[in-house]
Amino acid sequence: MSKEAFDREKLTVGPLRWLPSAYRAITLPPFGIWIRDTVSEEDFCGVLKHELVHWDQWRRYGTFGYYWRYFTGWVVYGYYDHPMEIEAYERSGVR
Ligand SMILES: [Zn+2]
Repeated sequence: MSKEAFDREKLTVGPLRWLPSAYRAITLPPFGIWIRDTVSEEDFCGVLKHELVHWDQWRRYGTFGYYWRYFTGWVVYGYYDHPMEIEAYERSGVR
């Protein structure tokens, strides 16, 4: 995603302090992306790349479609086999 896209959407990237520690980051479009402040400097860009794939999925599916697909996918596939997570891992190159 280009810098212009960040500016246009005023994408918020902030520290994550309000979810169980099993989560490194969360993307809640259209509000923003939160990344735990314990994520190391060297891992931060990779985690952000992964979350930006989720942001792109939201642009593709729309707000309802994004949350509906994510929730139902979670129920059916769990986390690691979730098609939206598989895409995020493949496109970001980050596990
Ligand atoms: Zn993910």
